[in-house]
Amino acid sequence: MPAVKFGHDLDAMLAAMITDDTRLIFVANPNNPTGTFIEGPKLEAFLDEVPRHVAVVLDEAYTEYLPAEKRYDSIEWVRRYPNLLVSRTFSKAFGLAGLRVGFAIAQPELTDLLNRLRQPFNVNTLAQAAAIAALNDKAFLEKSAALNAQGYRRLIEAFDKLGLEYVPSDGNFVLVRWATTTQPATA
Ligand SMILES: *Cc1c(COP(=O)(O)O)cnc(C)c1O
Repeated sequence: MPAVKFGHDLDAMLAAMITDDTRLIFVANPNNPTGTFIEGPKLEAFLDEVPRHVAVVLDEAYTEYLPAEKRYDSIEWVRRYPNLLVSRTFSKAFGLAGLRVGFAIAQPELTDLLNRLRQPFNVNTLAQAAAIAALNDKAFLEKSAALNAQGYRRLIEAFDKLGLEYVPSDGNFVLVRWATTTQPATA
């Protein structure tokens, strides 16, 4: 599905996906590697349109970086949409990528399927203990988000100065067009 302005084209996905073969739709919000963001009400309207036999994975790996005004309550959506699975990770704002731990939130119908498919012993007990401690460490999360916002501003100020085109990002990275003065050699 071609992207629109580097983001998911939800309308085109809806129009294209309603076939008997469609089983799963994957939406990353904010998206990687573009950093684009879909507003909550738009996502909710999308979820309303998706047939119940199609699972939607809403990948929220960067959700902790979102400013308060962009947040939406996807946990509440999980209560309403039995075909929705929200996934989160400790690899980004929590700073625990090396521990290989994340989690999913969904109704039992989906979590039961995941449980049957998961590898045994997939998240070790130390990673689980660290993850639980990290969940309660609000101060670290705030610091992490503030540092990220500061780094983002610094980067885009420099890009603006250099006249480099970039895609506004809600992640912890920025997609930038590295303009070259000479055409790259073609093979
Ligand atoms: C980083 C990331 C994840 C999670 O990666 P893990 O380190 O395997 O937990 C998931 N989705 C997106 C879009 C990511 O950028």
